[in-house]
Order: sequence, then C-alpha cells, then structure tokens
Amino acid sequence: ISLTLRKLQKQICQVVLDHFEKQYTAELGDAWSSVRDVLTSPWCWQHALLLNRFSPSPGLESSLAEQGYHPAFPAALPYLPAAFRCYSRTAPGRFPAQKHQPGRLKGYYLLNAASLLPVLALEVRDGEDVLDLCAAPGGKSVAILQCACPGHFHCNEYDDMRSRWLEQTIESFIPDPLVNLITVSKLDGRQIGDLQPEFYDKVLVDAPCSNDRSWLFSADPQQAVLRLMQRKELSSLQFQLLRSAVKALRPGGSLVYSTCTLSRAENSDVIKLLLSSCSNVMPVDISGMARAVSQEFAFLSGTQQHELLVLPEKGRAWGPMYVAKLKKVS
Ligand code: SAM
Repeated sequence: ISLTLRKLQKQICQVVLDHFEKQYTAELGDAWSSVRDVLTSPWCWQHALLLNRFSPSPGLESSLAEQGYHPAFPAALPYLPAAFRCYSRTAPGRFPAQKHQPGRLKGYYLLNAASLLPVLALEVRDGEDVLDLCAAPGGKSVAILQCACPGHFHCNEYDDMRSRWLEQTIESFIPDPLVNLITVSKLDGRQIGDLQPEFYDKVLVDAPCSNDRSWLFSADPQQAVLRLMQRKELSSLQFQLLRSAVKALRPGGSLVYSTCTLSRAENSDVIKLLLSSCSNVMPVDISGMARAVSQEFAFLSGTQQHELLVLPEKGRAWGPMYVAKLKKVS
C-alpha cells in the first residue's frame, strides 16, 4: 500500500501546488491547509452514485446500504422529487463504473456529490424550458432529468469530441420518449443569448474553469505553467457566457452559475461584475438549501446569501464547487 501511496504522491504537480498555495492562502486563510490535504490525497476522495430513475436496478439500493452507502440528500429538501436518489459514503473507494452498451440504459452515474448542488439550486419544474449551456460530459443534464421533466431541454457543448460524449451520456441514461424533448447543439455558448433571446425559464452555466482537483495532478508541468498563465482569460469567458445566459432567459427566469475551482476571480468576482453591469439581474438567496445539506457538505463561511463554496474536507471530500443563483427580473 505504501508504494501505491508514494506513487500517487509523486504525481502532484509542484508548480500548480505552489501557485494554489499562494493564491488560496490569501483567499481562504486557515481553511486552505485542510482543503489542500484532501486535494493532494486522492486515496481520500469519495464518489457518489446518482441512480437513474429511468432504469431501476433491482437490489442495487440494498447492496449499497450493505456497503455503507447512505442517501446523500435529506428527503426533506422541498425541491427533491421522491425519484431522485443519490447515495454516498464516508469511506473512500470507487463503485465500479458501468460500460456504455448501445441500446441499454445505465442504472447509475458516478459523480462528486457537490456537482448536484447547482442542479438542485436551479429548481427545474415540469414543463419548463431549460438550457444547459456547457453540458458535456452530461452529468448535470442527467441530474436535471432526474428532478423534473422539462417542456424542452437544450443541452449545448462547444467542443466537438466532448459533444459526442454528451450525446452518448444522454443515450445511456434517458429513454426514448423523453429523448425527444432534448436538443443537443455544438454552439459557442456566448452566442446562444443572441440566437435565442428570452427563450428559457432556467439556464445552467456550469462554466469552463480551472479544475483545481485535476490541475494538481497535471502530468506535464510545461502545460500546467501555460494553463496557469492563461487562467485570467477564463474569467472573461465566464462573464461572456453569463451575459449570454441572461439574454437567453425570459423575464422572471433564473440561472445558476457553477465552477469546480476555489478561485475567487472565477467565482464571486465574475458574479459581482455581472450584478453590477446588468440592472435587470438580482441575486437569489440559496442559503436555505446550503443549510439543508450542511451535514453532507462543508462550506466556506462568510459568503453572500446567493452563493456557496463547497470546501473538501476529510470524510466530506466533495468539491471544490462554487454555486451562485441569479434571477432576471425584466
Ligand atoms: N456540465 C458538465 C457536466 O456536469 O457534466 C460539465 C461542464 S465542464 C465544467 C465545462 C464545459 O464547457 C466543457 O465541456 C467545455 O468544453 C465547455 N465549453 C468551453 N467553452 C465553451 C463555450 N464557449 N460554449 C459552450 N461550452 C463551452
């Protein structure tokens, strides 16, 4: 075992860790050192299973219970339909992934449980028109369809290869009649607001970002340095995607913005800039949701009511995940 641990330890990319050390000590203070311990210890990482309501697997839930899994979200969450089932456990270790088999639906999706928070915050209701602006590989699209049956569901992904991956995910999880409600496109998300203004009730902007967890294990240090240098450009892309999402929303509609980085420049700074530049956009309080799930997730304290930041900690190794919710008022 110690050999495996040493091997895993060796893969950490020092230049990225040094960069994070400096930035996140300044931004998160004392909280950073315990977050760093989890992020640099992949053997502590946990996985959750989101069950597919369209393909119930007999015996799966009792087998999960035998292996120490428990429901990750309290049943009392008002916007959680009974069919929404997600299991997690404190002990690390991975449940086997299911292979893609054409024509056969999968029973569950493996994910970081924090990925479900943006979906829950979006509160999609049956019949609503929904846009998932940056959708591949499709985990959150699948999760949205576990929560509700939209009137129309537009899943967009700019990257060609990732878009094919998205299509495969949808094919693996969503049965035929429902698939007809879904449109998959390969557009630059920055243009959708102009192409379909005031078209959607709900928009999810799960933005391209610095993926702290995976960047720490970059195999190529030169590529890592380049990524760190180009990091600033991400904020501008994120802001433009948000502007497009606002345009695409009907008045009264709402959007959720999420990233899997701790970086303030890509999180609250982008939201602040949007709120200060769009007078028709207001923050929406999600602190009730954060309180309701606080047994499973650790949050950064002192954030605004319209946002949350999940900090990975031992035994609750979910995140990083930033979530903010906004409403278009006119
Ligand atoms: N929502 C996905 C899920 O839950 O499986 C993960 C999305 S990932 C964080 C961000 C995605 O945005 C990437 O697949 C990336 O290729 C895509 N992307 C990057 N630039 C984009 C753009 N201009 N328009 C739309 N998508 C873009």
